[in-house]
Amino acid sequence: MEWIFLTKYIIITGGVVSSIGKGITSASIGRILRSYGLKVSAIKIDPYLNWDSGTLNPYQHGEVFVTNDGMETDLDLGHYERFLDVELEGFANITTGKVYESVIKKEREGGYLGECVQVIPHITNRIKEMIYETSQKNDYDVVLIELGGTVGDIESQPFLEALRQLRNDEGSGNVMFVHVTFIPYLNAAGEFKTKPTQHSTKELRSMGINPDVIVCRSQRPIDDGLLAKVAHFCDVDKDAVVNTPDASSIYEVPLVLEEHNIGELIVNRISLDIAPDSSKLDNWADIVDSLKIRNPAVTIGIVGKYVELEDAYISIRESIQHAAASIGVKANIEYLSSDVDELDKSILSGFDGILIPGGFGERGFEGKLDAVNFSIENNVPLFGICLGMQSMVTQFARLNGYDGANSSEFDDNLDYPVIDMMEEQKKIKNMGGTMRLGAYDCKIIENTKTFDAYGESDVEERHRHRFEFNNDYRKNLESKGLIISGTSPDDFLVEIVEFPNHPWAVGCQFHPEFKSRPNRPHPLFKAFLEASYEFSKN
Ligand code: GLN
Repeated sequence: MEWIFLTKYIIITGGVVSSIGKGITSASIGRILRSYGLKVSAIKIDPYLNWDSGTLNPYQHGEVFVTNDGMETDLDLGHYERFLDVELEGFANITTGKVYESVIKKEREGGYLGECVQVIPHITNRIKEMIYETSQKNDYDVVLIELGGTVGDIESQPFLEALRQLRNDEGSGNVMFVHVTFIPYLNAAGEFKTKPTQHSTKELRSMGINPDVIVCRSQRPIDDGLLAKVAHFCDVDKDAVVNTPDASSIYEVPLVLEEHNIGELIVNRISLDIAPDSSKLDNWADIVDSLKIRNPAVTIGIVGKYVELEDAYISIRESIQHAAASIGVKANIEYLSSDVDELDKSILSGFDGILIPGGFGERGFEGKLDAVNFSIENNVPLFGICLGMQSMVTQFARLNGYDGANSSEFDDNLDYPVIDMMEEQKKIKNMGGTMRLGAYDCKIIENTKTFDAYGESDVEERHRHRFEFNNDYRKNLESKGLIISGTSPDDFLVEIVEFPNHPWAVGCQFHPEFKSRPNRPHPLFKAFLEASYEFSKN
């Protein structure tokens, strides 16, 4: 492989249990290095066989994060984008499905010239190539590579082997390993237990990988003596064992890691050409402080169908928090299932703002329409995203002479399909490529609440949907008062709508939540939070 190797790699593995915050740890390390002024990017490896996360149920893997280039990826890419303030490409999410697909394709094309194609070296080589293809594009100083799952999983093994090889190919001075583990506290014994960490480190070492840093996650702070024990048993420097107990906000983690001088340790370990300087994180610390505001509080109700698993709406949740912090209020987010016979009005009455998120399928849709109706009747600020916008259009149509209006997603024999598939999309239906995915330009119409929010006419937003506002109803619905406040640049696709005579009711066909940053809240979320705060004063 003829690459020019300038980039340094930090590989993050996980041990003991999943869901301990490897993604946040990776993003936090990236934030520290980025604050120092380094050019940082990140890759997430998901060892499952799915090609992407587009077909995964949000209940299993949480939200599907959509990149600018239109790939459906793991939610950790959202953490990376928010913490690093970058825009990643979809291939920054490597899956077993993507790796095998490309190897099998090459084999079918005769690309291996009669060789027996094997996990080692062909799959492992392809994994390394995919890492290089993403990381060599932009002269990054550092690329973080997070390996999903836990060390010891069968499906992770080819990746660990490839990453071990990567360290040898690049030189151990240019590649380091950070192992994130969990230290459980046993109530009965009244103590923390390091044994699972010792075992998972041993497992990692059996793959030929010695971690340089161990990040010990725990529910409460662990004392230094115990961390020294981890260092001793796991053969890691004492100051390279770092404890990150549960934090009140995920954005605090870079600060906690930096308290333990992790930036300096990394800079020295992989010889980064920069002076580590913790004061560069001061701006980040200010953001974290603004997120800690408790008063005044605004209650935002998310009315959707994936409410049992908060991770399903993770980018929306974060976007609300960024927006709230930026206007100096605290957002209390409550989740209300729309998949019920009747929404509980007493719960709806407690919301200062209602957000209807995206979704697929009919389940819970009528509940979303009820929430729209409640907002209309009670002037509660309303923000509809994707299916949420479609439910606003549908309910508006039903209230304005189109009884039984609905989306063709749920019934293809409707009198009033106010949400429908475009003719061009119908044609490609059988090829499975019908989804509008990734970034599209949008034109904002002046003298609208949407324009007040954005303050500009040309924006770009990310999409993930099949259905669109049906232009057959555009004129008539506009004549009933519906405001079209954003369209595609050629005016053909309706991208944003607003309700008339309402303090703030905006629905957008795209997903603004993918572009919000803690330091740069999304304009629509900010305007929604401002309206909700105003409403809360009544
Ligand atoms: N199911 C709707 C569509 O495909 C909305 C999708 C979404 O909310 N992401 O158009």
